[in-house]
Amino acid sequence: MAGASPFAAALEALRRPLEFAARDGFARLARVKELEATVHAAARRGAELAIPRDAVRAFEAVAARFAAPLAEAEREPAVRESLSSLAPFQEPAWAEQALERPVTVIPGVGPRRAALLAQRGLQSVLDLLLHLPSRYDDRRSLAVVGELAVGHRATFVARVLLADFVSTRGRGGRPMRAFQAVVGDETGTVNLKWFHGGDTLKKTVQKGATLLVTGDVRRWRFAKELTHPETELIEPAPPPPGEPASTAGSGGSGESAPPGESGAPGEAAPLGAPAAKPSTREVAPAPPADTSALRRIVPDYPSPEGLHPRALRGIVAAAVAEYADLVSGNLPDALARERGLPEPAEALRFVHDPPQAGDVTALLERRTPAHERLVLEELYLLELGLACERAQRAAEPALAFAGAAAHGVDTAIAALPWPLTGAQARAWREIRGDLARPHPMSRLLQGDVGSGKTAVAFLAAIAAAESGAQAALMAPTELLAEQHLRTLERLASGVAARGGRRLRVALLTSSLPRAEATATRRALAAGELDLVVGTHALVQGVVAFARLGLAIVDEQHRFGVLQRAALAAKARGELAPHLLVMTATPIPRTLALTVYGDLDISVIDELPPGRAAVATEILRAGEGRRVMAALRECVGRGEQAYVVYPVVEESEKSDLRAATTAAERIAAALPELRVDLVHGRLDAAARAAAMARFERGESAVLVATTVIEVGVDVPNATLMVVEHAERFGLAQLHQLRGRVGRGARPGRCLLVARASSEDGEARLRAMAETTDGFVIAERDLAIRGPGEFLGTRQSGRLPDLRIADLMRDARLIAVAREAALAAVRRDPTLQRSPALARSVQRRWGERLALVGVG
Ligand code: ADP
Ligand code: MG
Repeated sequence: MAGASPFAAALEALRRPLEFAARDGFARLARVKELEATVHAAARRGAELAIPRDAVRAFEAVAARFAAPLAEAEREPAVRESLSSLAPFQEPAWAEQALERPVTVIPGVGPRRAALLAQRGLQSVLDLLLHLPSRYDDRRSLAVVGELAVGHRATFVARVLLADFVSTRGRGGRPMRAFQAVVGDETGTVNLKWFHGGDTLKKTVQKGATLLVTGDVRRWRFAKELTHPETELIEPAPPPPGEPASTAGSGGSGESAPPGESGAPGEAAPLGAPAAKPSTREVAPAPPADTSALRRIVPDYPSPEGLHPRALRGIVAAAVAEYADLVSGNLPDALARERGLPEPAEALRFVHDPPQAGDVTALLERRTPAHERLVLEELYLLELGLACERAQRAAEPALAFAGAAAHGVDTAIAALPWPLTGAQARAWREIRGDLARPHPMSRLLQGDVGSGKTAVAFLAAIAAAESGAQAALMAPTELLAEQHLRTLERLASGVAARGGRRLRVALLTSSLPRAEATATRRALAAGELDLVVGTHALVQGVVAFARLGLAIVDEQHRFGVLQRAALAAKARGELAPHLLVMTATPIPRTLALTVYGDLDISVIDELPPGRAAVATEILRAGEGRRVMAALRECVGRGEQAYVVYPVVEESEKSDLRAATTAAERIAAALPELRVDLVHGRLDAAARAAAMARFERGESAVLVATTVIEVGVDVPNATLMVVEHAERFGLAQLHQLRGRVGRGARPGRCLLVARASSEDGEARLRAMAETTDGFVIAERDLAIRGPGEFLGTRQSGRLPDLRIADLMRDARLIAVAREAALAAVRRDPTLQRSPALARSVQRRWGERLALVGVG
């Protein structure tokens, strides 16, 4: 069993002798030697674990029953009752459910704190355990009081010599009451002063108590003083004669002494953040001179506003002390062994309460085996979820495009206006291999702007048609769908002219005239069309296919998984369609593995030959004259130019006005040439007409809003002017620049930027420095971080990881993925590992729509 928790192991160790004694109707009961001693010891060991009190009490009850040798007649009921009292804990899900208990089960956490913790997403005990420190305070070197240096922060141990409320003068000489203590060690004394929270403090900061003090040392009149230092009670004040020993300091014992719950925030002593079991601390308090237990590395947590970091430290410590040993691991044992990783419970203790000898730098950088264990546990579950999703889909039946299709495609390839590039041919081989199988393909085709993905998609559509199936291509914008239609029709008629199959292609978008749309839908349902190109209108309910065999999604990053799934669901009957996802947003490989973990990946890493370079210049606002000069120069050579304006919803009106004004100004400056304007508000026919004029070279300049961002393909266009370049994302800028340099003549890209943020400048610099899509993607990722980079927060694609960081832990993603794939190969639905299946379901089931797992 992979990574059984210490709790599960202890329970098992206890049940073994009990069950042995109960075997065969207690037949051997009399012959079991040392039953009491064995059971007692096992139960004691269980009670010592970092587990919740209900479990501790169960172990303790058994230990008590078996504390002394039992009479013959007492043995059977003792065994029977012990077994039944342990039964509930034996339930496989008991520990899992216990870890899901709300944070309010932790001593000191009431509704107020629970609400604060919830702001940080900390709702269950497990959330607390997995809330890792963001920093560590190295308190291993303790100062001595006599050598405290004014102006420095110090940690030292001292005994309280005097403690009381005093009248003092606050700011402006106002009289006020402060709580003050004089503390000292053999080298000297120093004053501690608090202006609030004294009522709570006076319970622990008592004459004779020993404290660990941390704070800034300052000079006050002729003495040294610390105001509002952090104090930790090491040893309570001795009880006055005749009273029982105080148990103050046993914060972990629960009901009493919540960590800093009352009083001013942070001023209540945390009362022994219970790293060790409180009981041991009570029995054997460290002698004051021995401060080794205090010289520790103290974790610091990101805490919600209104919750003192130290209070959170106490809360997490309490969670660790009461629950850590319930945590089990999912990572395969062999992998954990091979990498020398500690068990999860041990890893949690290590990161929350590092050992004295810990390497603070490694801790800070999360480079310890303990961190690796926790990161891998998380990534392993994620990759398992993705692998299951993928296995699930791969197991469905699909139509295999084989035999006849291969011949038809070969004819089409020979009929293309140019030979496939090496990279296109390789990608096509991979796709063809998938399509020939009777299970659905799930493949991502990644290739930089202009690398020729459309031609590959065209071949896939031919293969579908040759097999009697239909294909659908979904694009993110109408403009792009229209562009695709023109490209595909051109390719289709070229192939037909050279004796290949004539692909019947049509467009379906929501701005199509009613009659036309109806006719297309009817033809589609009747099987009279081979390929339909459209926008998300394709996934609407009224669209039906006669036989959808291939779904192609272009510019995947704009669609959510749901839309992808909706398109695939358009296939009727038993057969799932093959899925080809195309993106020009190069995603760093490791990230792609996670984000597109359910897809195989093909890469087109080569541009068609003869592409000219694109020179990029950054201009500042006010250099309008240079822009106009560049435009004149370009059109003077008979080439064409784009001028792009950003349009965002919030300022749509003024944005459109800017684009319109620019179009008029340019038209006025170039009276002999046609200047067109396209934007999202234009109706489909007008837009298509303008695009067609530009493609045919009838207009010289196309002023556009970002609707031309993707897909437009006019080789004679050599100049791209982007106005307000600072408002565009890096991927968008790269896409826009990709519109030029598509022919043999060199392209030029002018980015006109206003003053902008640091990120904005970083984007412009990246554009000026490189044209390599992968480098751009890496930069973009670095600037924005993975969440925004993928733009998938809305589409629900980027898994919200708690511990792992897709950037920092990139290399571990590959490790986790490999392990997950191996596990799923052995057991595709994880039915042989119920605990693992439950973990995957609980963590990712909903997000990944896993239905068949477990
Ligand atoms: P993208 O990958 O950005 O979608 P496209 O499919 O739009 O790229 O192709 C960009 C341009 O490259 C188009 O003009 C297309 O006709 C051309 N093209 C595609 N494949 C080849 C090839 N093998 N040789 C020459 N030109 C090609
Ligand atoms: Mg494209």
